[in-house]
Amino acid sequence: MNESIITRGMMFIDPHIHMSSRTTDDYQMMQQSGIVAIIEPAFWLGQPRTNVGSFQDYFSSLVGWERFRASQFGIKHYCTIGLNSKEANNEALAEQVMELLPLYACKEGVVAIGEIGYDDMTPAEDKYFRLQLELAKELDMLVMIHTPHRDKKAGTSRSMDVCIEHGLKPSQVIVDHNNEETVAEVLDRGFWAAFTIYPNTKMGNARMVEIIRQYGSNRIIVDSSADWGVSDPLAVPKTALLMLERGISEMDVQQVCYQNALAAYSQSGEMQESDWLNLPPIDQRQTFSNNSVLRGQEPLVESHREYALIE
Ligand SMILES: [Zn+2]
Repeated sequence: MNESIITRGMMFIDPHIHMSSRTTDDYQMMQQSGIVAIIEPAFWLGQPRTNVGSFQDYFSSLVGWERFRASQFGIKHYCTIGLNSKEANNEALAEQVMELLPLYACKEGVVAIGEIGYDDMTPAEDKYFRLQLELAKELDMLVMIHTPHRDKKAGTSRSMDVCIEHGLKPSQVIVDHNNEETVAEVLDRGFWAAFTIYPNTKMGNARMVEIIRQYGSNRIIVDSSADWGVSDPLAVPKTALLMLERGISEMDVQQVCYQNALAAYSQSGEMQESDWLNLPPIDQRQTFSNNSVLRGQEPLVESHREYALIE
């Protein structure tokens, strides 16, 4: 499979992608398309978890195996830790997850509490959203907000109201899954406005180009939110390419597909550009807990770090 996107040697960050549910082909294409760093937010599995141990192992894999797997393809991996809004509705389980969160939130490479917020805007979602905002404040951490796909405008406003109510600064909060209806308010109130680019429906990349044309590139972030559903791990480079083709300046493209994500999440102190500029060469002979990404194949061993597209 070779669908990598050539975009004049630009570097990209995908600050919202669920790699645990993606393949090594995806990692390879992402790296070849210029993606140098990614953030994997904690979320649900597509079906509800039944016990707290399954959260614990998942969080461990986000800071462990998945980070290793990314490194084997030359990509720097970060994550966020949180109780997603859907599973906040199982209160007995949510209580136990809340006790786990501080243990994982403070680990290296964890850049925010997230993705948290509302799904159906139930009282339980509201309760655990607020508790996690308090946790973020206590640990002085950033917050990544998942806004509901239904009743998006009201849900987005309310998410920001609640953040302010709990004393978070807008500059510490990244609001994701925006669209044309929500962007003006999010930017006006000083929050970061992230956009998830889906391949067919919802927020497509042609619509994204028009948003940049209208609102500029300040505090706007593009991501893929690729997961186990219909989604595209190359959404960021593909959107960048379309923007360039449609006359958006290279500087603006760089802002929304790289620089703003770096500016937002580097506030955590856990993520800086030198992390990927100084990545060691890929050595697929390496293992994690005695497991490698290879299945009998010849390991890739670089003599020096190669950025495929950087002149
Ligand atoms: Zn997500």
